[in-house]
Amino acid sequence: MTRFDESTITFPYTRSLGPVMGAFMTGLTEKRILGIRRGDGVLVPPMEWDPSTGAELAHDFVEVGPAGTVEAWTWVPAPSEQHPLDQPFAFAFIRLDGASTPLLHAVAADGPEALSDGARVAPRWKGTREGHLTDIACFVLGEEPEVDGEEATEPRADDEPVAMMDYVASITYRNPVPRATDRALAASKEQRLLGLTCPVCARTYTGGKGYCPIDAIELGPETEVDLPHQGTITNFTIVTPVQYPGQTESEPFVRAFVLLDDTDVILSYQEVIELPASEVRVGQRVSAVWASPAEATEGGSAMGGAYGSLLGWMPDGRPDVDDPDLVNRIF
Ligand SMILES: [Zn+2]
Repeated sequence: MTRFDESTITFPYTRSLGPVMGAFMTGLTEKRILGIRRGDGVLVPPMEWDPSTGAELAHDFVEVGPAGTVEAWTWVPAPSEQHPLDQPFAFAFIRLDGASTPLLHAVAADGPEALSDGARVAPRWKGTREGHLTDIACFVLGEEPEVDGEEATEPRADDEPVAMMDYVASITYRNPVPRATDRALAASKEQRLLGLTCPVCARTYTGGKGYCPIDAIELGPETEVDLPHQGTITNFTIVTPVQYPGQTESEPFVRAFVLLDDTDVILSYQEVIELPASEVRVGQRVSAVWASPAEATEGGSAMGGAYGSLLGWMPDGRPDVDDPDLVNRIF
């Protein structure tokens, strides 16, 4: 059985809407859907510029809908966390009455057999609206708009036109974990630094990579070697953290490349311990620092990373290595 690691990258930001999208979003808070006039037609959602000529459009807004006609649709049988509905639904191009372009939105229906091109749909509004396309929870079959839950009686905080919108871009993905990674993590709990030596090119890899990228062969348990716990810093970078949401670091910190003694093995981007950023230098001798077995158990997945219970490297008092080529050793 292959084990998978699940990761999520989240990128929250706030965007300004401008005079046209701002008017559209403000309309949604009032259960009104606005388009913008272009020649004989009405674009929905409204755009600032004519999509065919690039010319700026006059702010001539037209209320459309609320009902409309499904022009095309696709059924989503297994919604993900990021879909607008948590039960099977359709994404549809809906041409709202009075519009000349379709709006993409979700349509709730009992099943794909309940939908067809030409079906009439109307919005199901959220009771509390904030100026976002999701103020329309979805569209439902029929001519009559609905409101989900209680209609909020409180007007929006400032009752000003909506000018900004919060947005969270987020993706969750799963990576298969090679068996070699699990073996390396298990060894790290015994405070062993496992390497895999390729039988063809004799290079040694760490971090449980599990294959030789030069010879494209899998490196099984028979290729495992125990690596030394002492090394030399060949290179380093000082990272000055930017305070984006979710940043846990506040002070500059070091990531160092460590060449293990009597090997050609370099561990990249290693943490240093009891070594201030101002004192780290190329040629410095360091030793591995391990989590105790108790810490490794408590830390659980927080210990994570390819090196498991290896916490980092600290100066061990041995004299520096004086080799001008050292700085070029990054792999
Ligand atoms: Zn190889």
